[in-house]
Amino acid sequence: MPKNTISLIEKILYSVEKPGRYVGDEHNQITKEWDSVDVRWCLIFPDIYDIGQANLGLAMLYQILNAEEHILAERSFAPWVDMEVELRKHQIPLFSLESKQSLKNFDILGFTLPYESIYTNVLNILDLAGINIRSTDRRERDPLILGGGQACFNPEPMADFFDAFAIGEGEEVSLEISQVYRDWKKTSSPRSDLLLNLAQVPGVYVPSLYDISYHPDGTIANMTPIQPGVPDKITKRIVAALPTHPSKFVVPNVEIIHDRMSVEIMRGCTRGCRFCHAGMVNRPVRQRSVEEILPVIENGLNSTGFEEVGLLSLSSSDHTQILELTKKVHDNFHDRKLSFSLPSLRIESFSVDLMDELKELKPGGGFTLAPEAATERMRAVINKPLDDEDFYQTVTRIFENGWRTLKLYYMIGLPTETMEDVDAILQAGIKVYQIGKRLIGKSVKIHLGIASLIPKPHTPFQWLPVQSPQLIQEKLDYLKAGTRRAGIKMSYNIPDSTLLESWLSRGDRRIGSVIQTAWEAGAKFDAWGERDNLQIWRNSFTTNNLDPDFYAYRERSLDEILPWDHIDIGVTKRFLQRDYDWSLVGRTRADCRNTCFSCGILDAFGDQRPPETICYWGCP
Ligand code: SF4
Repeated sequence: MPKNTISLIEKILYSVEKPGRYVGDEHNQITKEWDSVDVRWCLIFPDIYDIGQANLGLAMLYQILNAEEHILAERSFAPWVDMEVELRKHQIPLFSLESKQSLKNFDILGFTLPYESIYTNVLNILDLAGINIRSTDRRERDPLILGGGQACFNPEPMADFFDAFAIGEGEEVSLEISQVYRDWKKTSSPRSDLLLNLAQVPGVYVPSLYDISYHPDGTIANMTPIQPGVPDKITKRIVAALPTHPSKFVVPNVEIIHDRMSVEIMRGCTRGCRFCHAGMVNRPVRQRSVEEILPVIENGLNSTGFEEVGLLSLSSSDHTQILELTKKVHDNFHDRKLSFSLPSLRIESFSVDLMDELKELKPGGGFTLAPEAATERMRAVINKPLDDEDFYQTVTRIFENGWRTLKLYYMIGLPTETMEDVDAILQAGIKVYQIGKRLIGKSVKIHLGIASLIPKPHTPFQWLPVQSPQLIQEKLDYLKAGTRRAGIKMSYNIPDSTLLESWLSRGDRRIGSVIQTAWEAGAKFDAWGERDNLQIWRNSFTTNNLDPDFYAYRERSLDEILPWDHIDIGVTKRFLQRDYDWSLVGRTRADCRNTCFSCGILDAFGDQRPPETICYWGCP
């Protein structure tokens, strides 16, 4: 970036909120000579620094790519609205934190897409970088626009804006993509060759190489590759053994949402909750051993100075060494006055011993449980089987061990749900409050977190419609009134945000035009509840002659081609369909660690399975 632009940026920083978001130079930032490498990546989290800098996936890729001598990887985030005004006013293209290079100068812009409501920010970032937002309008040597992350398991809504997607885990495929780019860069061959070469890399999806046709009723008739050598299906990538965990984390300049060191202790889950997208798309279960985790914490603390450590996974109490881990973490680090968070503990696998250890690790403060449904019948439907007795016993033990605040997560809008099931959530909250008052006294705090079901792609519920905002609002009003009377705190997702997420997560390629129209009409930061853009979105559907209800409220037939069917997660559609059938009759499926139900993962990835000494897999 020319010197005068840098000094102009420095001037602008005096007039925007939290200038630390834009300066970089943090402790442990990695900088490399621009001309010393062959491939230049910019890793982009399409929301503000305060949110994106806490993303563990981004931190991992940052270390993996920069570990390669011929690659540099820098970071960039969505500028907040005040900074955007300044950038547009002074015609300064969006830049990276490390070298302040314009994003346009990089070879590959790698966007991480963890959730859908950041899609308009992607378009805004491309526009602020002076890059054509549509893939078909890109010039020969424009940066490659690459997407990755959890939302990409249905890439179709964003297909018009990305040149390629890395489906699944990025650790290995990002290096392969880098190599394909490096080889192509040395040639003068056209961009179309790069895209074709990328389409040969397992796990890479190049949407422009596929043609889609629709039936008169709007459902998909066919999705076909337009060139030989382009795969019909894109199988997600997994890393057979979890790689060495990074520990030299960038220490942020400004306070971020999770101001802590995050350590992934396990990946995947075998519990099979039927609403859970992460549980289905991140199989198989792989875990890091205690011997691997402890040095990461030690080195991480020494190189960052963080005072909190998050031990992360989808279901930490299912880690086969969880007790030993919590014990050793306490023994090794208790004198450092740190706090440890261990989210996603499952009530079913939550032993008394683990409770005792946790008491040492994170005394007092809050505890979180996710029963998700309050009747045994409904828990069977969602495949989270749990007896009421076990639930209240665990709650009692939590209070007996001194925790004063308990947060309980529940869902509404579930299949076969009745108002009795909704009322049961309130009654459960009241009963837990009474137990708490008896054991702790009036200072006990109960917090209900209510989410509305969005039947996500690649889950057994993917065929279901979303429940209408009116019906959801009725149920929320009932719970709000009841919890207010009972003195229980309640938080919930506003039905409109659920609707937007359902359009963007269950959409097909035609949704791309709706996203562009919404962005052109001013929609951005849609994940921020206070920015109510829903009317803009409704108008965008109308402008593009599409019916939003087709995507949200329509039950999909079991033989319909779904917009994400060409993305193979290993778990088969047949397995999901059978599980859907079971849900409607309340038939449960046990944790498959002991009994394999042939979901398809072992067929798809069994040949990659390493010996247990290298990495434990959850499949028997
Ligand atoms: S292959 Fe079997 S054990 Fe492994 S995740 Fe699937 S059902 Fe579970």
